[in-house]
Amino acid sequence: MTATSGHDAGPAHDSRDLPGGLPDGPLGLPWPRTAVRRADGSVAVGGVGLPELAAAQGTPLYVVDERDMRERAAALRDAMTTAFAEHGAEVELFYAGKAFLCRAVARWMSQEGLGIDTASLGELTTALSAGVDAARVGLHGNNKSDEELELALTAGDTGIGRVVLDSLVEVDRVADVAAGLGVRARVMLRVTTGVHAGGHEYISTGHEDQKFGLSVHPARPGEDSPALTALLAILARPELDLLGLHSHIGSQILDPAGFDAAAREVLRVRAELAERTGVLVPEVDLGGGFGVAYLPGEVELDPERIAKETAAAVVEAAAETGTAVPRVSFEPGRSIAGPAGLTLYTVGTVKPVRLPEGSELAERLYVSIDGGMGDNIRPALYGAAYHAELVGRTSGAPPVRARVVGKHCESGDIVVHDVDLPADVHAGDLLAVAVTGAYGRSMASTYNLLPRPGVVAVRDGEVTPLVRRESVADLLALDLG
Ligand SMILES: *Cc1c(COP(=O)(O)O)cnc(C)c1O
Repeated sequence: MTATSGHDAGPAHDSRDLPGGLPDGPLGLPWPRTAVRRADGSVAVGGVGLPELAAAQGTPLYVVDERDMRERAAALRDAMTTAFAEHGAEVELFYAGKAFLCRAVARWMSQEGLGIDTASLGELTTALSAGVDAARVGLHGNNKSDEELELALTAGDTGIGRVVLDSLVEVDRVADVAAGLGVRARVMLRVTTGVHAGGHEYISTGHEDQKFGLSVHPARPGEDSPALTALLAILARPELDLLGLHSHIGSQILDPAGFDAAAREVLRVRAELAERTGVLVPEVDLGGGFGVAYLPGEVELDPERIAKETAAAVVEAAAETGTAVPRVSFEPGRSIAGPAGLTLYTVGTVKPVRLPEGSELAERLYVSIDGGMGDNIRPALYGAAYHAELVGRTSGAPPVRARVVGKHCESGDIVVHDVDLPADVHAGDLLAVAVTGAYGRSMASTYNLLPRPGVVAVRDGEVTPLVRRESVADLLALDLG
């Protein structure tokens, strides 16, 4: 058994382990929680058969298991609330909209008690137009525009809940915009701790060489750190209310130790600021980055484990620095949206390619689908690994090593590098790629003028379109001739 949340499909239900994959039952990770293999061999999610869905909506199509996404948000919220309450501390979650945001998703997350984090005018406007309480919206970005700041500072009754400042120049910029509008801005400062995490480990380095945030480490001994300098500048501007410090250490993190190390650094700076100025900021945001299982057999970061360990780290660091425990916030994106989504494709050309003598394989089967790097850029961008299965039928044919490729004009247009598919895979087969709910549609492009797929939610046998499929006419509508 893997350390997962709520997926209790044991090996007996794992149709992947059985030749032909015959019995019906839960598919388990990395598929959405409600995914089942039906007796006829096809897969249903949210009570909706994927072949029927493909027939009605066309492919490629992003499919979101609404129950799974909501349950993931709720499980994290509950685990965090319980773990921090044990230490008398409060915690708040902000769903990271960049993972996948549309108005329905913004409402689901609000209903589950999460705020929304945004990083652009588009994300901010989407959250606000979904009716999300402005006080529960955050704005990030290393180069925010005037338009973004003006909307952020005037939305709702008193502007959005938090603008996360990312540089020293931004301190005066945001204060000036606030002064011009005659409002106050609630701000946090994004700091870098030298802790970088992602994949299966974290590294802690003394220096920073990336665009986000301000370092908590002085460039030279005896100097103030860039973070402390900016914090002092914030306190000097009466238009700014300093809520606290923000740290985001990376993504797809499977080891909570990185959060522990970052929390300690952030609390140290918080105490340093208090010592210098008497101002103990009330909040610390530890960002997002909780890892998920992309492939069969992988584990995801357990919500209770991350909650308990970060709560303990924050409480210990507060005690060590002799300061009160802060309110804590997190910004999960991938761990909520990713596993709840899949992409449905139709197989087209299937081509065996003989590999040179001495290669690891004699032959690789190239399986072309009707989408590709335009709807999932992560394999090309990060070398990300995904899992795919036929979801329209099962097959008794032996497995062959396949590569799932798109229809774009790039040899790097690969969606799944390596996966075993039945040798009889053929044009017209329905293929699903798992865990595309985060950073799939949100990173999609129209490369080769391929329209972007639509997004539908499935739940209890109901299909709810969330984002309409783009058409060639939509693309031409932007073309001024
Ligand atoms: C991307 C990002 C997140 C979300 O990261 P996930 O890996 O999707 O959880 C949270 N906060 C900030 C500042 C980010 O840039």
